[in-house]
Formats: sequence, C-alpha cells, structure tokens
Amino acid sequence: MTEPSFSVCVYCGSKPGTDPAFTQAAIQLGTWIGQHGGQLVYGGGRNGLMGIVADATMAAGGRVIGVIPRALVEKEWAHTGCTELHVVETMHERKQMMAEKADAFVALPGGIGTFEEFYEVWTWRQLGYHNKPIGLLNVNHYYEPMLSFLKSVVQHEFMGEWQMDLIQSHDDLSVLLPSLVQAAGLPIKFQSQAI
Ligand code: AMP
Repeated sequence: MTEPSFSVCVYCGSKPGTDPAFTQAAIQLGTWIGQHGGQLVYGGGRNGLMGIVADATMAAGGRVIGVIPRALVEKEWAHTGCTELHVVETMHERKQMMAEKADAFVALPGGIGTFEEFYEVWTWRQLGYHNKPIGLLNVNHYYEPMLSFLKSVVQHEFMGEWQMDLIQSHDDLSVLLPSLVQAAGLPIKFQSQAI
C-alpha cells in the first residue's frame, strides 16, 4: 500500500441512526477517502456509522487508523481489521492522537460523542492549537437545527462570524471533501473517479 496523500479524521455515531441516508453517507465517505488515496482516522469501533465508514474505506483500498480507549474495546467492539488499531488508556489520549494523525476533520451525523469531538477540534482551532480544516457533513438536513442555533449564538454575540468561518458545512460530500483536503494544502489522487 502506498503512503496516503491525506488523512481525514471522521467523527460519527456509534449507532447507525434511523435514516438510511446516514449509512449511505458513511459508505460514500469511506469510499471517497479510499478511492482518492486517503487515510481514515477514527475512533476504532465496529459499531454504527463508525464501523461502516471504516469498512467502506478499506473496501475502497484506503488505510484506516483506529484509536480506542482500553475501557471501550468491548463496548464499542474494537475493529481488529483496521490497518492500525491503537489501544490507548484514556479518552483524552484517543482524541489527541486522532487529531495529531489527521490533516482535516469531518463530522457525520452522530450523538453527543460526535458533538463533543467536533466542538473540541473547533475550539482548539479558534484558540490556534491547530489550523486544520473542519467540515460538517449535513446529511439530509441532520445538522440544520444545530446550524440555526449557532446562527443565533452569533446574533447574541457570544461568538463572531470569524468563528463560524472556521468550519465548513455542506450536504454533498463530493463538494465538502475536496474542499477540506485542498484547504489542508494536500493532493487528491484519482480526481476523475467521482462517486
Ligand atoms: P456518539 O456520537 O455518542 O455515538 O459517539 C461517537 C464516538 O464519540 C464514540 O466512539 C464515543 O466513544 C466518542 N466520544 C468521544 N468523546 C466522548 C465523550 N466525551 N463522551 C462520550 N463519547 C465520546
């Protein structure tokens, strides 16, 4: 396997959710990463959208790095089929390693774990701890209520537009992913192989 040309950290639900569009998006995202010479970094589980995106990446020929805390190995059903599986001691170590191994971040639909991870890398970026692009894949309007709330946060002047500008949101991964990878200044191989 050749060296991946970019590495995307994906945050997503440890459950599949109710809308089949979420599963479809996880498959498309993993396929896109694999087909474009990329690497997936994720939480290392087999459950829910997490397992789906990992399997799709590997099926498309991509590398997958999973990072899972020891205490969650059984609960999240650690994916021993990953190209690399790192078992770490704490959730903080997991999130730190995932962030270090990624060139860009993207959140699919998920629950509080997904939100926490997404907001953490966003807040780290606003503080200047990193300058890696962050995307929100708004599958079937899932994140619409959150985006509306965030707009009201700006209106209430608890944050500025510049902070909103630190994330990119789109409903189409074939727009969002190239934009994130290019913003990270990295090459995308096989660009003609659209999915
Ligand atoms: P969820 O979106 O709630 O299904 O969780 C998705 C992933 O986020 C799971 O692998 C969780 O272990 C992980 N996660 C990361 N940070 C946290 C946290 N502080 N609380 C709960 N889950 C978390």
